[in-house]
Amino acid sequence: MSGIILETRELTKSYPVGKGRSLSVLEDINIQVREGEFVSILGPSGAGKSTLLRLMVGLTTPSKGQVLYHGVPLPEANPKIAMVFQSFALFPWLSVVENVELGLKALGVPDDVAKAKAVAMLDLVGLDGFEEAYPRELSGGMRQRVGIARALVVEPEILFMDEPFSALDILTADNLRGELVDLWIQKKMPIKSILFVTHNIEEAVFLSDRAIIMGHNPGRIKADIPIELPHIRNKNARDFKFAVDRIFTILSKPAEEIPFLLEKGRYQFLPHTKVGAIAGLTELVHDHGGKVDISALASELSMEIDDIFPLIEASVFLDFGEIREGDYLLTERGKAFSEADTLKKEEIFRDAAVNNIQLIKQILQVLQSTSKHRMPEAFFTEILENHFTPDEAWNQLETAIDWGRYAEIFAYDYDAGELYLEKPE
Ligand code: ADP
Repeated sequence: MSGIILETRELTKSYPVGKGRSLSVLEDINIQVREGEFVSILGPSGAGKSTLLRLMVGLTTPSKGQVLYHGVPLPEANPKIAMVFQSFALFPWLSVVENVELGLKALGVPDDVAKAKAVAMLDLVGLDGFEEAYPRELSGGMRQRVGIARALVVEPEILFMDEPFSALDILTADNLRGELVDLWIQKKMPIKSILFVTHNIEEAVFLSDRAIIMGHNPGRIKADIPIELPHIRNKNARDFKFAVDRIFTILSKPAEEIPFLLEKGRYQFLPHTKVGAIAGLTELVHDHGGKVDISALASELSMEIDDIFPLIEASVFLDFGEIREGDYLLTERGKAFSEADTLKKEEIFRDAAVNNIQLIKQILQVLQSTSKHRMPEAFFTEILENHFTPDEAWNQLETAIDWGRYAEIFAYDYDAGELYLEKPE
């Protein structure tokens, strides 16, 4: 097919995690990047976004599937891709211009040509006059400009940007986003396409022509949607907010509601949230009449949508709330929970958790079926490690223990590292 620069076909990646087991990080990823497109890949952290970028540049090899560059599979193909990282990754002992020249010199470009190109590219990103400065003398925003100049100077066909603005303060990040769009729409950059990884929904809507939305455990594509708004986009415009809400809805839809994820043995990914925070959210929404616009709620709390995302996800799992077109609505159960006193809250939470949270249900069943009504935590992490990395397995168990203890579904013996039933029935 014409116009496709980069393509992945049924790309799958799993990592060995010891004891002969492997963890599936990405499954069946099919992406096409065409000439002239600015594509964002959006997803929660751990969804495999960085792994996907590494696979696409050939830094790591897939367990299954292929990456094709102009129809030629890696590793035969020689992709002209340059990368901008979150961490800037500049050499501190080299001046700004030397940092930018480096890639060209590595390609055998003569020194004077390399220097002229580097200076021109620094000019393009607004660093005229800073050529001889050292990275330590620059602000974060300026360092990232160097990062961008360094990527562009080698004239890649595609520019990969891996959360390039997430380490910057809000204002600087906003400025750089505006400038990036400007360079892109005015076709000032010597590139054909951009693949931009982010976990920030507004950023994706502000910048890109298309958003590929990923879910985690394992990383899969949940949706691939066009964003057809004219540039420069206004974050307060109705259409902008509508696009943000739509993506939020897709991101927050529990995996169970997406048919292709309904496979035997898949685990819910418990968001790492405390019960107190979930209770706080439901009470706040109750105060707003039981329904809030999620982006409005985020700005009211001075939080990013991504920060309240786990809270909302947890409350949806527990059947305290649901998401409809960018609004968060309390369910009857959520309403009762938000109105209840402490004791009653525990009771409602217990009922919600035992009925809706797979891991809690499973722990309870195991504890009920053993004669001592006790089980070492390792028993559960062992099972969880079939589905999560060892760290994530602990995080999942920790969240389940936190919720289970709050609702007195089971107790936890710190000294022994065991879960047990206080009042086995
Ligand atoms: P994201 O960029 O979306 O945050 P990553 O691609 O960094 O996600 O990671 C996705 C998952 O893969 C995570 O659970 C991470 O722990 C796991 N992972 C990444 N690299 C390795 C590796 N080399 N070995 C084992 N697991 C890994």
